[in-house]
Amino acid sequence: MPEKGLSDLKDFLRSPRKILVVSHRNPDGDALGSTLAMALYWRKNGHQVTVVFPSPFPGNFDWMPGVDEVLIFDDQEEVVKEAIDAADLFVFADFNHISRIDKMGEAMEGKDTPVFLIDHHLEPDLSHPYYYVDPGASSTADLVFDVLTRWEDSDYIDDPQITTCLYTGVITDTGTFAYNTHSALFAKVSRMLLCPIDHIGLQNRINNSLTEKQLRLLGFCLHHRLQLLPEYRTGFIFLSKTDYAKFEVERGDTEGIVNYILRINNIKIAAFFTHQPTIVKISLRSVENYNVAELAKKYFNGGGHKNAAGGSHYKGLKSAIELFKNVLPEFVNNQTNE
Ligand code: 5GP
Ligand code: MN
Repeated sequence: MPEKGLSDLKDFLRSPRKILVVSHRNPDGDALGSTLAMALYWRKNGHQVTVVFPSPFPGNFDWMPGVDEVLIFDDQEEVVKEAIDAADLFVFADFNHISRIDKMGEAMEGKDTPVFLIDHHLEPDLSHPYYYVDPGASSTADLVFDVLTRWEDSDYIDDPQITTCLYTGVITDTGTFAYNTHSALFAKVSRMLLCPIDHIGLQNRINNSLTEKQLRLLGFCLHHRLQLLPEYRTGFIFLSKTDYAKFEVERGDTEGIVNYILRINNIKIAAFFTHQPTIVKISLRSVENYNVAELAKKYFNGGGHKNAAGGSHYKGLKSAIELFKNVLPEFVNNQTNE
């Protein structure tokens, strides 16, 4: 597991510091869980912590501990820039490179503020003085648990709010223990639950919190917008600009829809295309050895994890789907030959 400077970082944090914790655009349960857990921990230890996301988080996470104090760069640019200037430490959580946070990254670049990167995406930027990265980890929350227990020299974190945040990250990024799991993760989760949290209630709150509109949109996608390419063990769903308008699709409404495609027998690769105002966003999922991060990187200006990746396309929906269909045969062939 690549890491650098964790004990130096612990020493650096022996005096009170101003810490700016950042995660990625469209933050999910792991982005929220990992950042809020660190913020709660450091605040308890006397630091001033600001958590920032480039764009807003989904409303169904508004109960998370510490979420009320989060800043959103798109909405509060000036306040965030002041926090950037004041910070003694930047923490990058759940993204691998400063380019992933676009305009906010531009506002941070060129500062000599040290960075601590904690992440589980492929190809992390290891130019920072402090990092703890593992593309094999279930989630960034999983890595935060490692670091905090190491610093505390303890088997678990005896704080229900912090543990709630960490557990949220793990269940979000493992589809509630359906993927990205391994023996070491279950051992870790067993230690997490030494802290009394309502983990069943928490799971319910995260998994069973769709709005009626979101469930109907899922139904529409599966009934009217799903296409299968069985010879390539692939399925995809697309949403046009008109669909967006008709369903009044908002941020977060399409979250998780792509995963349903993989429920079909023998389907191993899933894609979801959404035509947003300026770009077509592509979400990719797979099982087994199909490395969709490669596909996202090579053809859709993106990246991610082996089995969950994403990217963008700038020439419209039809063109994005055509490109996907064109590159699929070679992609599938290469992956199965490996
Ligand atoms: P989602 O499909 O949920 O938006 O993203 C799945 C995974 O792919 C996430 O881990 C995310 O970081 C990665 N990903 C999504 N979009 C992009 C992108 O445009 N560029 C890169 N590098 N990664 C992306
Ligand atoms: Mn994550």
